Amino acid sequence: MNIAANSLEHHWMPFTANRAFKSDPRLVVKSEGVHLWDHRGGQLIDGSSGLFCVAAGHGRSEIADAVHAQLQTNDYMSPFASGTPGSFELARKLAAILPEGIDHVFFVNSGSEAVDTALKVAMAYNRARGEGQRIRFVSRERAYHGVNIGGVSLSGMVKNRETFPVVMPNVVLMRHTWSPNERFVRGQPEGGAELADDLQRMIDAYGASTIGACIVEPIAGSTGILVPPKGYLERLREICDKYGILLIFDEVICGFGRTGKAFASQSFGVTPDIMTMAKALTNGAQPMGAVAVSDKVYDTIVDAAPDNAIEFFHGYTYSGHPAACAAGIATLDIYENEKLFERAAELSDYFLDKMFELQDIDLITGIRGYGLLAGIDLAPGAAPGLRGSEVQTRLFWNGLHVKFTGDCGIIAPPLVAERSHVDEICSIIRKTLEETGH
Ligand code: PLP
Repeated sequence: MNIAANSLEHHWMPFTANRAFKSDPRLVVKSEGVHLWDHRGGQLIDGSSGLFCVAAGHGRSEIADAVHAQLQTNDYMSPFASGTPGSFELARKLAAILPEGIDHVFFVNSGSEAVDTALKVAMAYNRARGEGQRIRFVSRERAYHGVNIGGVSLSGMVKNRETFPVVMPNVVLMRHTWSPNERFVRGQPEGGAELADDLQRMIDAYGASTIGACIVEPIAGSTGILVPPKGYLERLREICDKYGILLIFDEVICGFGRTGKAFASQSFGVTPDIMTMAKALTNGAQPMGAVAVSDKVYDTIVDAAPDNAIEFFHGYTYSGHPAACAAGIATLDIYENEKLFERAAELSDYFLDKMFELQDIDLITGIRGYGLLAGIDLAPGAAPGLRGSEVQTRLFWNGLHVKFTGDCGIIAPPLVAERSHVDEICSIIRKTLEETGH
């Protein structure tokens, strides 16, 4: 496919260096299984499942057929005070794989909306139990929780908030769990659980009665795969329980088998009060997110309202869109029928072995990994992020799509990947970094 330079001008691309990209465009025109094809006809491996969405592999006809059939039968209906069967069915199926006691699901259209919705759920819950003064939220340095005003406020990545100074003022940040002394860490770090005591410090500084919720990603994804130290999430849970603070896990990246179980909270054995999810919920085929809450949170909000009153003043025109629900149901069926979460658990050791074999490469300064998720740090170039974007482009033309966050490449192949795909990913990374030099 020929692309005229001026034909790209009008699309303002998200999270993209528009000028650089448009001078050397990399368009994907076809996808199937773990593979992509670019506009020049080259074939690539999808090393990041698109953007951590396509867990069941690309081109799943079961999902496309379900969406098509749904749109032909009932394309849309208001989700407010009316309903379509798919949203109830998808919520029921999700409740079956969620941690025990997390049984109620609110649908949204993205991870960012899920995060903002989770904050509103926390506020509504605290108000319903007579603790409406708990308006403070605790997040972490280096955190990424999407791009809406709530998520940007919780963000600890400076690039995500320095341009947008008018954010919620009631957010305080704990330290993150990255340690400069431990560059190559496979699985959960042994040390660092004490960093969870930062939550206690926030309580000592601001008073528990002002804090509504603490939000973390079980594995921090967009900051470069920071796996929680052993005991860290448990300690957060303990402190939250002691002081009546809600614990929110943002599972937008690590949900749906990425860690070898349906959700990372199950892999780490810690159950939050509220969970956010998106991406692999529909295998990326339809935009959708969700917030799942515990019975305690749901019952408290719902029971506080008078009979026949709306209990939670929140919702989107496209909450539980029929096409997205159809995609979600078909996706969960694939995960179950093909046992993809178990498959991810089985492939994980091989995947991590291969990832950590790359550590002899000069340009690589750190590797972290868990499940089918790995972050590979590169020595920075002239400015932070330049090396990452140079290597990302080179990888693409060498046949591998990898999502970069600054100078860290994040490898997260579809859960249907074979060992041979993992080998191929590694050999393209090695070849590309050898070509790149210092
Ligand atoms: N939360 C986390 C942990 C994420 O990684 C992301 C996106 O990558 C989001 C929220 C935002 O999701 P979305 O881009 O669908 O709005």
